[in-house]
Amino acid sequence: MSLSSPPSRPTSAKVLGMTQTTTQATSQTAQSEALFARARAVTPGGVNSPVRAFKSVGGTPRFIREAHGAYLTDADGTRYIDYIGSWGPMILGHNHPAVREAVADALQFGTSFGAPGEREVELAELVTRLTGTDKVRFTSSGTEATMSALRLARGFTGRKLIVKFRGNYHGHADGLLVEAGSGLMTNLDGALGESAPSSAGVPEEYAALTLVSEYNDPAALDTLMAERGAEVAAVIFEPVVGNAGVLIPTPEFLAALHRVQGMGALLIADEVMTGFRLSLNGATGLLGLKPDLTCWGKIIGGGLPVGAYGGRGDVMDFVSPQGPVYQAGTLSGNPLAMAAGLATLRTLEADAGIYGRLESYTSQLADGLKTLAAGAGVAISVNQIGSMLTPFFQGAPHGSVRDYAQAARSDTQGFGRWFQGLLSRGIYWAPSQFESIFVSASHTGAELDATLEAARAAFADLNQTNLAAPEGVSP
Ligand SMILES: *Cc1c(COP(=O)(O)O)cnc(C)c1O
Repeated sequence: MSLSSPPSRPTSAKVLGMTQTTTQATSQTAQSEALFARARAVTPGGVNSPVRAFKSVGGTPRFIREAHGAYLTDADGTRYIDYIGSWGPMILGHNHPAVREAVADALQFGTSFGAPGEREVELAELVTRLTGTDKVRFTSSGTEATMSALRLARGFTGRKLIVKFRGNYHGHADGLLVEAGSGLMTNLDGALGESAPSSAGVPEEYAALTLVSEYNDPAALDTLMAERGAEVAAVIFEPVVGNAGVLIPTPEFLAALHRVQGMGALLIADEVMTGFRLSLNGATGLLGLKPDLTCWGKIIGGGLPVGAYGGRGDVMDFVSPQGPVYQAGTLSGNPLAMAAGLATLRTLEADAGIYGRLESYTSQLADGLKTLAAGAGVAISVNQIGSMLTPFFQGAPHGSVRDYAQAARSDTQGFGRWFQGLLSRGIYWAPSQFESIFVSASHTGAELDATLEAARAAFADLNQTNLAAPEGVSP
């Protein structure tokens, strides 16, 4: 049963079961097109975060007017079943009553104090209890959390280097835009160099302090640490990768990660995406990890801007004003954001079956996609864990895509056409091959059936239009 029932308004005729939308494409997106044109005039690329621009799949990004439960409604009034969930935070579904009421309640008392308040204490108590960490510091984004955790690791160890993994994304701080995944794989296709910055404007000197190893390659990490380990302050990693598409770690790789702790480096689990998504204690709880520091974001703010980092008390006590590592934030611990985070985490904790239902929905979706793709003669390789899933458009066996290089072999054009096929049938999938989708607790059997029906038709389209991309898809 879903936590919040889908909106009571009648299902738009434009959405479910519709099979001939492509001829109406122009009139169906007129408002989004007009808004996109205005946006492009005043904002780079018309968006405030790159992957929203639909660059790799083509077509007009939908400007969203409202979101309830499992559904988005765009500026033209078309409803979609949403599989992005604001890129992770909306695990309960959009505009969940508990979250909305908590924010509305907090709103009566003011929007920002610039002084500590009770909700920050409550959320810190809840997060440390659920994750078995000693202390936590709130920030306003995931990027700030990872950036601050690395400064802390350097301050604590007195070492300069950090190690990250190819295709992992940890936000957009300078030293982390090296071989980063997600929007960078999507938008700078082919521009990634060996250990080079993934962005203009990142000095090579900064990038040189970030060593890059291969995800799921324990021998490569061991070799790197044998050579440079004494200089390494921290190894940061996505414990389940979402930002190169879903990549699941092997037990051997997790063991190699823990070996770096024996060399004096801190192990930093970047759970900005997986925290409270894969379990109440994230991937750390699910996979039995023992990181020194953990970074959170997304779900921890329940759809408002929040990040956090935390872990061992002796390390966290190096953070100012207790210790010498400076980190601050005008809006950190914001009362509305804390209220949304508290309501989200409390709802997750109170519902013992919620992670089981998320897993059940998503594994049925994975099975359905495998069967439908095979039936249509389309090669896909599905990675799924909990409520995260990526169908890589390539012929590798299901579950066998393990690293960036293999993910990058996917047929991104085929994916783009499939994405358009879903979108035209009212399914809002992630607009990049190299992203996870996110299922929410508001997705029910009705949404699953409608999604698989649309996927069936989109796979069939793909098979018939193998040689010609649909209109609007840039070459
Ligand atoms: C989203 C994400 C970030 C960055 O968080 P922002 O809130 O977008 O700054 C960092 N790490 C991971 C693993 C993420 O998925």
